[in-house]
Amino acid sequence: MAGFKLRLRSLPFDTQAFNYHLDGDFFNQVEKTEVRSSSVDVTLQVTRKTENTYVLQMDCKGWLNIPCDRCLDDLRLVVDTDYQLTVRHEGDEWDDSRDGVLLVPEAWTELDLTEMMRDTVLLTIPIVHCHADGECDPEMMARLGEHWADTEPAADGASVEAPLTDDKSGDAIDPRWEALRKLKDNN
Ligand SMILES: [Zn+2]
Repeated sequence: MAGFKLRLRSLPFDTQAFNYHLDGDFFNQVEKTEVRSSSVDVTLQVTRKTENTYVLQMDCKGWLNIPCDRCLDDLRLVVDTDYQLTVRHEGDEWDDSRDGVLLVPEAWTELDLTEMMRDTVLLTIPIVHCHADGECDPEMMARLGEHWADTEPAADGASVEAPLTDDKSGDAIDPRWEALRKLKDNN
């Protein structure tokens, strides 16, 4: 994505600020994520320390809409996070194995920030994300309750947990969960 490329070699030996806006499409362009919509403003300050060294300070503020684990209705998460990284041209290999330091090939004139911004924001999503107790969509909870009662006679019905998918690609959706999504879509 051209708009998210930082032209390293053209930067002055100074601090410069860049602003980016991340909408729902941004988070779903490379692969589908659970982000339904979003408005995150990123302020990036880049300080070029030497010919080959840059210090990046990224601040991300805004919100994400993702499905609630319990009722599947929109859940708005506040995003307020930052990230620091030192980028250095060194040799001819990409190396991000060290914390807080990214080595990029000397020949590179620019750095694509897409993945960095995406991961920084997505990592703020808690593993379990639900509305506060009592704030789930009551109609949906009632329908889910009926659905689970029909399909899962052994379930205690007290809690609905998102089943884990085996496949890392995220394509393999538990059939029960898929049924719930359809239920929600037809609502
Ligand atoms: Zn909910």
